[in-house]
Amino acid sequence: MNKRAYNFNAGPAALPLEVLQQAQEQFVDFQGIGMSIMEVSHRSKQYEQVHNETQALLKELLHIPDNYKIMFLQGGASSQFTMIPMNLVGEGQVSSYVHTGSWANKAIKEAKLFSDVHIAASSKEQDFKEIPDLSALELPEQAAYLHITSNETIGGIQYQQFPQTGKVPLIADMSSDILCRPLDVSKFGLIYAGAQKNLGPSGVTIVIAREDLVQESPANLPSMFRYDTHIDNNSLYNTPPVYSIYMVNLVLKWVKEKGGLAEMEQFNQEKTKLIYDVIDQSQGFYRGVAAPADRSIMNLTFTMENEALEKQFIQESQEAGFVGLKGHRSVGGLRASTYNAVPYESCKALQQFMLDFQKKHG
Ligand code: PMP
Repeated sequence: MNKRAYNFNAGPAALPLEVLQQAQEQFVDFQGIGMSIMEVSHRSKQYEQVHNETQALLKELLHIPDNYKIMFLQGGASSQFTMIPMNLVGEGQVSSYVHTGSWANKAIKEAKLFSDVHIAASSKEQDFKEIPDLSALELPEQAAYLHITSNETIGGIQYQQFPQTGKVPLIADMSSDILCRPLDVSKFGLIYAGAQKNLGPSGVTIVIAREDLVQESPANLPSMFRYDTHIDNNSLYNTPPVYSIYMVNLVLKWVKEKGGLAEMEQFNQEKTKLIYDVIDQSQGFYRGVAAPADRSIMNLTFTMENEALEKQFIQESQEAGFVGLKGHRSVGGLRASTYNAVPYESCKALQQFMLDFQKKHG
């Protein structure tokens, strides 16, 4: 095999090599059935086993309490921006959002189509470089929920602690940081994540919801957009993205084998420290975007003195085998995404590259 790239893509992103190899092994003959898992009915016992085991693995790794349901949906996390207000905001209620950047903004935009949106807090004035202080959070009486984005993939900021919302259910878009650290699911009413960062390939969106919130959707919603449809049918109302779910299954087994979420967090901390240390000790050659207290252990954003130097950095990094270090097109700068599956060696190599680059151009 050719050498694997140092993959810092933001999503779809690096998958564990072991997982890819296992999928390759089973690609044309899944467990001796003479077919791939893509070629059997989603109602077959072979697929059913994968489906149910994937739910069980999520439940085990995240310690999901019994009164929560796990759904496998399509349409990406972006569809959840719409499904959440459609299903959860009742007559006379409002939806409440914390605005922390690009992804929160997209969620807010969709919620406005289906509800009156209350902005509970925003870090717009801080250029979305930090998570707003939510210690004195006040929510309207009629709030159906409070929505947060636990990790802003583009800005590179991440909640270090979650707000107390009392009786108001807390909803979190965890697309870019689910499974990066232990989580107390019982603090949340609903959690959702597109798979294509820490969970597997794109194609499936995981929704974990407290049962009482999603048992009965408003009568006028179409079947596919109702949570109760998917819950009543164990996410098999229509054909699910079987291959994506199968890959998530393998990734979850990999996380479990690595020791679970506490181990993942430690591993991620170690990896990101390598890079943040270079930034912090570079005397301004590299400039971290996020406020240090809120910076992400998944998406590390930084800039340099000018765009020409950033361009040079991207070019030389590509030549050295690094992929995905260009910042999102909406904000520019540089970004290294260090999801669970990004190996320590890739981060170590990036650390060395950054030190060398500074020596050469600093
Ligand atoms: N929320 C966050 C935090 C994201 O990072 C992304 C994708 N990058 C999305 C939502 C949208 O996900 P999808 O492309 O699955 O709709």
